[in-house]
Amino acid sequence: RISDQAFVTLATNDIYCQGALVLGQSLRNQRATRKLVVLITPQVSSLLRVILTKVFDEVIEVNLIDSADYIHLAFLKRPELGVTLTKLHCWTLTHYSKCVFLDADTLVLSNIDELFDRTEFSAAPDPGWPDCFNSGVFVFQPSLETHGLLLQHATDHGSFDGADQGLLNSFFSSWSTADIHKHLPFIYNLSSNNAYTYSPAFKRFGSSVKVVHFLGPTKPWNYKYNPQMGSVLEEGSGLANQHQTSFLNLWWKIYQHSILPLYG
Ligand code: UDP
Ligand code: MN
Repeated sequence: RISDQAFVTLATNDIYCQGALVLGQSLRNQRATRKLVVLITPQVSSLLRVILTKVFDEVIEVNLIDSADYIHLAFLKRPELGVTLTKLHCWTLTHYSKCVFLDADTLVLSNIDELFDRTEFSAAPDPGWPDCFNSGVFVFQPSLETHGLLLQHATDHGSFDGADQGLLNSFFSSWSTADIHKHLPFIYNLSSNNAYTYSPAFKRFGSSVKVVHFLGPTKPWNYKYNPQMGSVLEEGSGLANQHQTSFLNLWWKIYQHSILPLYG
């Protein structure tokens, strides 16, 4: 049954809500046939909660789990990632039989309903270490038992990167070897800033990309956008490449056309 399956994302503050809103709208634009769910934490303002209900079928408040793993997080220079352990709450959505989790910094470019043909735990390789999966897009099966085991695992072993990706990789440790069906193609989680490192592959396969992931410290909402030009403004560094820029422009186009008007 389609109504007992859902796309799920997470936003712990009003900034990440902007990402969640664009993601939710991009799923709607691509005629997603499953429920759209956003997990939020108490920090999210009442205004944003109202806006979120205009795009998502369910807005569910959960408690923040902070990994408090400061040493590893300091190593990663990404102290904000501690809150991503809140992601584990998605396993408590037991009114759904199967879900696809998407980070709030992802953007859906075409229909991805076929991901529901996959089973737990399916994810795409991480571009930085392909024997690990990237935890920005994954297929999972809600279960209080699994949720409990994940929390236990976090308590017993911590997370080797201080965030959800390290924890999930050590919990679902057979991912890289056990079952090729659980390896989602890279087109379901293309990291926008890595697209350029294997340029011929991007030329060959780039047009089939279905989900773009704006992984890393600089998110689409950190750019300035010129609505007249329909383009983000490049700030100095030569880091941004052509593909990345077009994905950023796509994100901003949805934000400008479909999300800003929701604020009335
Ligand atoms: N997230 C959030 N608030 C934060 C940081 C992260 O809600 O302050 C959620 C959000 O869904 C985000 C996900 O956790 O997409 C993972 O974090 P992020 O995407 O920043 O990590 P990256 O993909 O860059 O490693
Ligand atoms: Mn992300």
